[in-house]
Amino acid sequence: MNAVDPPDPLAVDVSVVVAAVVAALAGADVAAPAALASGAVVAAAPAAGVAPAAGADVALVVSVDVVVVWSVLFFAHAPSSSAAQSAAAPANRNVVVMARFIGRGNRQILADDATHEVANQPPPLSGYDVAARDAALLDGVQREGAAWDLDALHELGTIAGSDDAIAWGFEANRNPPELRTHDRFGNRIDEVAFHPSWHRLMEVAVAHGLHGAPWRDERPGAHVARAARFFVWSQVESGHGCPMSMTYASIPVLRRRADLAERFEPALTSNAYEPALAPLRAKRGALCGMAMTEKQGGSDVRANTTHAEPFDGDTYALTGHKWFCSAPMSDAFLVLAQAPDGLTCFFLPRVLPDGTRNALRIQRLKDKLGNRSNASAEIELEHALALRVGDEGRGVATIIEMVNHTRLDCVSGSASLMRQAFAQAAHHARHRRAFGAPLDQQPLMRNVLADLALESEAATALMLRLARAVDRAPHDAREAAFARIGVALGKYWVCKRAPMLTAEAMECLGGNGYVEESIAPRLYREAPVNSIWEGSGNVNALDLLRALAKQPASLEAYVAEVSAASGADARFDGALAALRASLDADGAEREASARRVVERMALVLQASLLVRFAPPAVADAFCAARLDGDAGLAFGTLPPACDLHAIVRRGWPA
Ligand SMILES: Cc1cc2nc3c(=O)[nH]c(=O)nc-3n(C[C@H](O)[C@H](O)[C@H](O)COP(=O)(O)OP(=O)(O)OC[C@H]3O[C@@H](n4cnc5c(N)ncnc54)[C@H](O)[C@@H]3O)c2cc1C
Repeated sequence: MNAVDPPDPLAVDVSVVVAAVVAALAGADVAAPAALASGAVVAAAPAAGVAPAAGADVALVVSVDVVVVWSVLFFAHAPSSSAAQSAAAPANRNVVVMARFIGRGNRQILADDATHEVANQPPPLSGYDVAARDAALLDGVQREGAAWDLDALHELGTIAGSDDAIAWGFEANRNPPELRTHDRFGNRIDEVAFHPSWHRLMEVAVAHGLHGAPWRDERPGAHVARAARFFVWSQVESGHGCPMSMTYASIPVLRRRADLAERFEPALTSNAYEPALAPLRAKRGALCGMAMTEKQGGSDVRANTTHAEPFDGDTYALTGHKWFCSAPMSDAFLVLAQAPDGLTCFFLPRVLPDGTRNALRIQRLKDKLGNRSNASAEIELEHALALRVGDEGRGVATIIEMVNHTRLDCVSGSASLMRQAFAQAAHHARHRRAFGAPLDQQPLMRNVLADLALESEAATALMLRLARAVDRAPHDAREAAFARIGVALGKYWVCKRAPMLTAEAMECLGGNGYVEESIAPRLYREAPVNSIWEGSGNVNALDLLRALAKQPASLEAYVAEVSAASGADARFDGALAALRASLDADGAEREASARRVVERMALVLQASLLVRFAPPAVADAFCAARLDGDAGLAFGTLPPACDLHAIVRRGWPA
């Protein structure tokens, strides 16, 4: 028998247990368990059991405690078959009797099974208003024209920071959606079942207008207010942001046909969440997805093979497939398909007006890295009926409106991930001690936190400025031109930074951060997707170069925007001058340098915003590290002379 084998209960009686304890107290504690198991300790006991007279009382009390603990361990390791139990009965009874006897004076040992006190673990970051201490967010919301929405923002922030909502986020991801192709009678239903927590998240999101508030109430600042709400609410869970974004983005496309907008916009922008499938005209609240990507190509949708046959007026029958179709339980989809005159945009309802299901079949759901609460499906269409939106052959031009808005949400979604990642890191570091001091007061950790806070603030400021450009675009040509390239460069850069930042923030939590019970792994897994969909990095960068070449007004608008910070910081002035020179030299059309150009444009724009509107400590560190090269490639390499404490303190989550 070796030390880990259970001892034979018949071979041991209480005297052996006591002897082993005494031996342990006398210093033979390592050998004692093995000796107990073998019974050999009986011989060792007399010699080891000679306790010093002066300490006899203490030794007795302690040994009594240990006997109880060992007795419990002993039972736990005893064979559990009924034969073994009955054979062991006499010896076990002795131990039980003794444990009870001893236990009378040692209640705390029997009642409290803890082996140690839990110490140096931070309290959970919950029960707080996610927006309340986010100075970059609150300043930006006021600056960009949505101060009127601050009360609603705090209301949503308080829900986002509540225990309930945080639990919904975890549950919705732990219980991902399931495809139900058929009902119990064998009828094809093509539905997706979600965990109740998903529906709670969706209810709150819809009730707060994340899918359509700016279209229902088009007051100045409406898109800024919505971006801020989306940013705050996504911090609790990102996956359900996908149907919110797609529905939000579908409205400008739908408005290209006034009759469709009149019929469907009220349900698509209402604050009612109605998940059950029904004809659109019978629904108080509805959601819209989009299906463009096919197996042979997602970036180059001109390669789409799904074809559309004219059926009746502007109604077409679509046949083909889509390789990615997220939120497949949506009530309608914007779909691209090849009509006789070329690629065309269609509005495809899930349920037909007579209540029958449209011919859209869900083949399977994707098994994704992150974004797991959300369903992303492969679908097939077989003579599915759809209404044409825009002219035949103008599919990309028509649906691009949608893409512009979903790209803004990629910026907001990534900024939101970064803010939550920083909040978790800062909270942990503030409450966790190592080597005699809280982590956040250790100079190197402070540098890491300051760098994360800096990146998060720059992303937040950019998001809100871009939202204002989207807000103003219908009434202001310069803002429209600025939005055209601003959203593309923001999408490229903020989404590229999110995976790096979420990884570094996770490390601030040490091992705790790598464990699913913390939100850090979910933030990390979610982070890459915003760069992949709605125009992957390269496609986005190339799109920006195209815009620079074809729409000089966009570059002029960009330069006017960033130049507003000129003269305030020599490093900024130098960076702007260098950027302009490189744009001229590159001609802005050389593909291989597209990422360099876009990255530099994004950094200069972020710096311009921070120089003008952020506290000096933030602007100074950003110009030094991001423009002037006074930093390394990893986070946590800001120049130590920067006011790191001020940067971190500005971002404290609660
Ligand atoms: C979770 C998830 C959900 C999605 N949901 C939807 C959805 O609801 N509806 C939908 O329509 N799609 C959806 N997509 C698909 C997504 O939009 C596409 O994956 C994306 O557009 C890229 O297309 P692709 O996968 O075909 O890659 P490709 O187009 O093959 O591109 C592969 C790589 O090549 C690069 N590349 C392409 N062209 C060039 C070039 N000219 N020069 C240099 N590099 C280039 C791209 O940037 C990319 O990095 C989803 C994707 C994911 C991951």
